[in-house]
Amino acid sequence: MSTVLKLCFLIAITTRVTATPMREPVQYPDEGALFEGDIQGPLPTVSRAGIINPIARWPSATIPYQFTLTFPFGYRSVFQSAINHIVGRTCIRFKTRQAEVDFIEVNQDSGCSSGVGRMGGRQGLSLANRCDHLGTIVHEMIHALGFWHEQSRTDRDDYVTINWGNIQPGKEHNFQSYDASYVSPFGEEYDYSSIMHYGSTYFSKNGLDIITPKQSGAIIGERETMSNSDIKKINNMYCQGTQGVILKSEFTGKEFLINEGQDIAIWEWANNDNQKWTVDWSAFTDQSLGSQLWTWGQTGGNVKMMDEDQSNAGVNIWGENGGINQCWVAIHITGSTYTIKNKMSGRCLSNNGANKVACATFCSSSDLRQQWGIYEAYSN
Ligand SMILES: [Zn+2]
Repeated sequence: MSTVLKLCFLIAITTRVTATPMREPVQYPDEGALFEGDIQGPLPTVSRAGIINPIARWPSATIPYQFTLTFPFGYRSVFQSAINHIVGRTCIRFKTRQAEVDFIEVNQDSGCSSGVGRMGGRQGLSLANRCDHLGTIVHEMIHALGFWHEQSRTDRDDYVTINWGNIQPGKEHNFQSYDASYVSPFGEEYDYSSIMHYGSTYFSKNGLDIITPKQSGAIIGERETMSNSDIKKINNMYCQGTQGVILKSEFTGKEFLINEGQDIAIWEWANNDNQKWTVDWSAFTDQSLGSQLWTWGQTGGNVKMMDEDQSNAGVNIWGENGGINQCWVAIHITGSTYTIKNKMSGRCLSNNGANKVACATFCSSSDLRQQWGIYEAYSN
């Protein structure tokens, strides 16, 4: 494997840890009246938003996992969709466990629940009955990555009111917040729309709200998709510099739209997952390195990348293959405008005048067809 090829892979940001995480059989119930506790395992020296201590992170930002033999096949497909949801938006990767010592066992042992961060050895991620909702699985996976609940942040009292009198007796500990020496928000503002935020009535003894947002109209308890802040927090913890972008043709003013497994088209901006891409920004803008461009619209088991089609002048979406034809460099022109060059061929992305993207043999920063505006993908 060439040096360049190695550099185009995701850059592992974690260091191998040697100390043993503390283990205590403490349960942190989560999903309210519907589910039992959703955080398993110890009370480590961690942040209530995200674990500060790198000991709890997964090396190479990769979680090895395996299912128990009896884990339902129907749930496995949703689990894969949850993997795709995270993989498209972040630098996190999942792999089927081979012989890794530290791994997640996906089982049905304890409601919808997960340990927080890498705990060492086998740790459960439980998806029992009614836990086969994509957003619920993503929520548990984010616990496993090292994040607690949003409303446990140090600054939460500035954003929500906790109505202690409405909490089921014995469940008050789920509504503690924690000192700043103990927690990190990983650079993000308090986020009502976090997939890690409780709903308003979780653990309510009387159906009345326990958590009331101070911002009128704020909705909490999102369980459909990661918020932009969730995405950034994960990337800030595991791989600073990784971010979501959209690529806008300066020639037509439209963005790339993925047609998975086929050519990439140019289309009107519609704020769809398949119009958003994730890059390692520092590598992407370094001509000696380059970055993969992976799509948020992941489907199937492989990480899907922008891929130069070597059989013709086009580009397409393909599973990650480690090939340098999946490695791209953004060369700055002016402002937010770049040319985008393939590391293997040296050809540049070009809007061919129709709605297709081609690879131009001769790169030219003055050719409007080869000018691409690169902007943050987080539009809300
Ligand atoms: Zn939870």
